[in-house]
Amino acid sequence: MPCETKPRFVVLYGSQKGQAQSIAEGIAEEAEDHGLVAELSCLNQDEKYNLEKEIAPVVFVVSTTGDGEPPDNALQFVKRIKKIRSPDHYKHLSYTLLALGDTNYANFCNCGKTIERSLQALGARQFYPSGFADDGVGLELVVDPWLEGLWNAVKEVASKMASERTAQSEENVKDSAKEFQDLTEPDVKISLLSITDQLSRETVTTDLHHLPSAPSTSSTLSGQNLSSSSRRTEFISQNDATQTTDEGIPQISSSSPLTNSVPPLSESSLNVPVLPPPFLDVTLEEVDAPEQSSGPLNKETVHEVPISRAVLLSRGDSVKTALLLELDISTCPTLTYQPGDSLDVLCPNRAEEVDYMLCRLGLKDKRNHHVHVALKKDTKKKGAQVPPHIPQNVSLLFLFTWCLEIRSVPKKAFLRALVEHVVDSAQKRRLQELCSKQGAADYNQYVRDASLSVVELLTAFPSCSPPLSLLIEHLPKLQPRPYSAASSCLRHPGKLHFVFSVVELPACFGRPAGRRGLCTGWLFDLINPGLVFPGKTESSSSPAPPKIHVSLRPSCSFRPPSEPSVPFIMVGPGTGVAPFIGFLQQREQERKRNPEAVFGETWLFFGCRHRNRDYLFREELEGFVASGTLSHLKVCFSRDGEEGEEVVASAANPKYVQHNLLLHRQQVANILLRQSGCFYVCGDAKNMAKDVNETLMEIIKTELHVDQLEAMKKLAELREKKRYLQDIWA
Ligand code: FAD
Repeated sequence: MPCETKPRFVVLYGSQKGQAQSIAEGIAEEAEDHGLVAELSCLNQDEKYNLEKEIAPVVFVVSTTGDGEPPDNALQFVKRIKKIRSPDHYKHLSYTLLALGDTNYANFCNCGKTIERSLQALGARQFYPSGFADDGVGLELVVDPWLEGLWNAVKEVASKMASERTAQSEENVKDSAKEFQDLTEPDVKISLLSITDQLSRETVTTDLHHLPSAPSTSSTLSGQNLSSSSRRTEFISQNDATQTTDEGIPQISSSSPLTNSVPPLSESSLNVPVLPPPFLDVTLEEVDAPEQSSGPLNKETVHEVPISRAVLLSRGDSVKTALLLELDISTCPTLTYQPGDSLDVLCPNRAEEVDYMLCRLGLKDKRNHHVHVALKKDTKKKGAQVPPHIPQNVSLLFLFTWCLEIRSVPKKAFLRALVEHVVDSAQKRRLQELCSKQGAADYNQYVRDASLSVVELLTAFPSCSPPLSLLIEHLPKLQPRPYSAASSCLRHPGKLHFVFSVVELPACFGRPAGRRGLCTGWLFDLINPGLVFPGKTESSSSPAPPKIHVSLRPSCSFRPPSEPSVPFIMVGPGTGVAPFIGFLQQREQERKRNPEAVFGETWLFFGCRHRNRDYLFREELEGFVASGTLSHLKVCFSRDGEEGEEVVASAANPKYVQHNLLLHRQQVANILLRQSGCFYVCGDAKNMAKDVNETLMEIIKTELHVDQLEAMKKLAELREKKRYLQDIWA
């Protein structure tokens, strides 16, 4: 009897914040419904896969982080394949790739593109066009159709590869048979080989025959039909919305579009993602002595340092509150930094939000209990593992304070999982809508674009009571927040400065009052009592300096030119000026130490709203100009028009940094294109960095008399040579 095997394929992911991982896991979950077997691994689990010998199709799902870098768990893989030189190394490999990125940042989907380039250079064949999804406009615009087309492509290529193998083995059989004949061996050996051949052909035929044309529709979930569409989704009919609300459950506000279901969506049938299988068993253990830990666990890389000074850089009536913090790092000899480096600030979740979460879970009394997390023995989740950011033997309070991003924007898979724990039927229906294909616009508007946090979502859906295990399964790691060093240790030995503006998230549906960003709000509260205002003498009776946990994030390339004679241009509006203060302090000290040396020209393009309210570091910058450290300071103010009117940009009246760049296009072109200088951009990724990039393109086009394509190539070359560098954030 022929043995019936399902075609297998390999899914490899590299993920920083869990998005790529959850898509890869979704693919692995869904595979069975398509008659396929998926083997899921993270790219850094190289003991679990072997591309050198892989004979099945491979699907990569990778995100990009920072300035186009691979996620931490893909870094080694990317380094490794970039080093391979043989053009036939992956000739046997058939792959496709889904890259996640954000066009607000430079180097969109760079990790995916790098992996693809390397695979192709090493002879791998793409069996299905790669997808490049943009978080800036909504990943699902690319991810959903890409996933829909994936299954047929995997099946086709798997069967083609199997046929090729069969053909190859037939060839081998023929060759072997000939050899046997030549050796005049007895017939028995030939017939044995024929049996093997026959088996393998039958297996292939069976595989093809058994591939389902559509996913199975066998199961039902609380009376809901399951979809028979090509995506693995559940199908929910509109009748589900008609159930009555249970008594005693708080009613959701009927006026909030976040929670209120309205036609046509409320009358529509819904395709919702399939329920992610639970995979964690969580137990709580009462302990005698509550733990004393008041900070993050990774003590080797994290330093607890005092804030020795806090200065308000913007005026009180400025739209954004900008602050400079000085850290005393003199007691941390390993915390050495260079201008261009950043530091990670590890901030806790807000105590009242942690309390709220524990209350919602009914676990407030158990806040000091230790949490034990283990994999469910019978979990159906492919490649399930205890998330690496969940430590063992910490209290519930610690877990929610330092490990889980309770401010994260809930993903659709999480919403889908929450649906199972909602009592009120109207709320249930609305959550189903928000995670459904049909409700994508509502999800984008009310959840994603509003940066609605999990805490805010649970507040808006009061009848939702998820178990602790579900939150641990779905909440991502509480990420440290990076800040650029805004000082040079030559100028401020033993000190590190950084600058930030307090993020203010406006009120929205689900957020009755605006709130501050997690880290910037926390830092602001921490230093508020001892804040120093510019021009005022520091009080000697300030309270004891608060301490924060930081770790260094060295930059590979965002550094001033190592050769002092190389001219360079810095573009840093608002808090984007931060690293350039470090560059200039360093340059000033170097000039003092080497008065004979030749130093190249330095240009700084700065911009803000109002000269008198938010011109950060004005005195220091003007001092750099006076001392000759900064050759040219070009500043513009976007809201300093007459009577507070917005400035209308004109050749003589630049509004934004890019207008000033255009005004000085010849000097910019000279430095960048003729004097081998460098160009640095720091700050807002959403608008500024894009506009500056466009402007550079214009300058290159006009100065070199080339078309758009050539200008793009030139910019790419400058990036490649690390002469066009960005340090940008959303
Ligand atoms: P969070 O609580 O994380 O909230 C920020 C989120 O809110 C973002 O997702 C954002 O999209 C969203 N958001 C913001 N405004 C709105 C709005 N109006 N409506 C809806 N959503 C909104 N920042 C600095 O100030 N100075 C620096 O020098 C600096 N350097 C950086 C260097 C690097 C390499 C990187 C990656 C980032 C840097 N940042 C810097 C950004 C910084 O790390 C934080 O992201 C920022 O301070 C916000 O942190 P938070 O915890 O206060 O906000």
